[in-house]
Amino acid sequence: MSTAATSLPERNAAEAADLVLAPAVTAPEVRARRARQRRQMYVGQVASYSLGAFVLLLYGFDGTVPMHVPSLFWVGGLSIIGVFVVMSEAGVGDRSTDHYLTVFQISAHMALQFVFLVSEPTIGIAFISVLFLIFAFGTLRMTSAQAVLTWAFAATGLAAVFLASDLPIGMPVATRLQRTASMLCFVLVIGQCAFLGLFGATLRKILYQRSIELKAAYQRIEELAELDELTGSYNRGSIMRHLDAEIEKARQDSTPCAIALIDLDWFKRINDAHGHPTGDEVLRTFAITIFANIRPTDSFGRYGGEEFLLLLPDTTTDAAQRMLERLRGIVADLDWSAFSPSMHVTISAGVATLRDNDTADTFLARVDSALYSAKAQGRNRIATS
Ligand code: GH3
Ligand code: MG
Ligand code: MG
Repeated sequence: MSTAATSLPERNAAEAADLVLAPAVTAPEVRARRARQRRQMYVGQVASYSLGAFVLLLYGFDGTVPMHVPSLFWVGGLSIIGVFVVMSEAGVGDRSTDHYLTVFQISAHMALQFVFLVSEPTIGIAFISVLFLIFAFGTLRMTSAQAVLTWAFAATGLAAVFLASDLPIGMPVATRLQRTASMLCFVLVIGQCAFLGLFGATLRKILYQRSIELKAAYQRIEELAELDELTGSYNRGSIMRHLDAEIEKARQDSTPCAIALIDLDWFKRINDAHGHPTGDEVLRTFAITIFANIRPTDSFGRYGGEEFLLLLPDTTTDAAQRMLERLRGIVADLDWSAFSPSMHVTISAGVATLRDNDTADTFLARVDSALYSAKAQGRNRIATS
């Protein structure tokens, strides 16, 4: 016979996963979902007690136990379930971290088994076997401390029955009906234990899957926090952090470090002539073009508006200048007619190489003044500092 089995089907395991990792904040929808899970569990418990009562009925027909025992067992089980249903619907468990009130449920169901064990010891093993089921259910949700506590209750009860009394605890197998009932007892308990075990395994699988998904999502969030939404290049904060790191690395390795500040020429005119959304598309296309033509070790980020900072580690001034000249040519030669037949986009850039006494600020100030002179010299050109 059986009690306390959860009826949560496997398809609800995904929802039930938060039983194990209970979120700190219980939003109304979380409470509603938990209440639904508890209802499913209580339905399962009713089914479990009904199966148990059916087995007892067989013992009753056989005359092993009085005929009122099955119904008393069923009513007793349902009364306990009823009390917990009322508390569940009143939201009593929601105020506790263990919203299933697991210890109380287990203690109540165990107590019932002990009452029947003492009153009907000749089929006592049947009630004892239910304890396995109760614990299989409980350990799905209990903490180690709660498990030890309830185990101590069970141990005390069993010690009292086995050691402090001389009750003839048994499992009758004299008649065909008794053998059938005794067999069913074990078959049903084993079946329900297996179901609970599978349910627990499903929960673990879901949690594992969720942890992998969370890790990936967290990584993506970190990446997004580093990137500029429009162009996909590093955002200002991120490119500045990269700049600090590159300066430090260049000093450590005694390698040259070049940077370039790139600004789109007459960009305001592009916006004015073709509209801001087209301006955005131009910025995106420009960024993609740069990405396609720089080295994997280079870093490219949006410094602000239509100004971009390009970090060129291990690059001399000459090499950086040649590289920027190449990028300038590529942008100028791009076919922008898809945006508008008359559109031409050019860039100007300042290039600077790290000096011994440079800080990030002085380094940036020099590259900025180089950009300024490129603009002053007529745009669509590269200037060094
Ligand atoms: P210059 O050759 O001197 O750089 O001329 P400019 O018109 O590019 O100069 P300025 O820096 O004065 O103008 C930059 C313009 O870029 C102004 C601003 O509206 C535009 N802009 C900045 N950020 C964005 C953006 O995200 N999208 C669009 N469409 N325009 C932007
Ligand atoms: Mg500009
Ligand atoms: Mg500008």
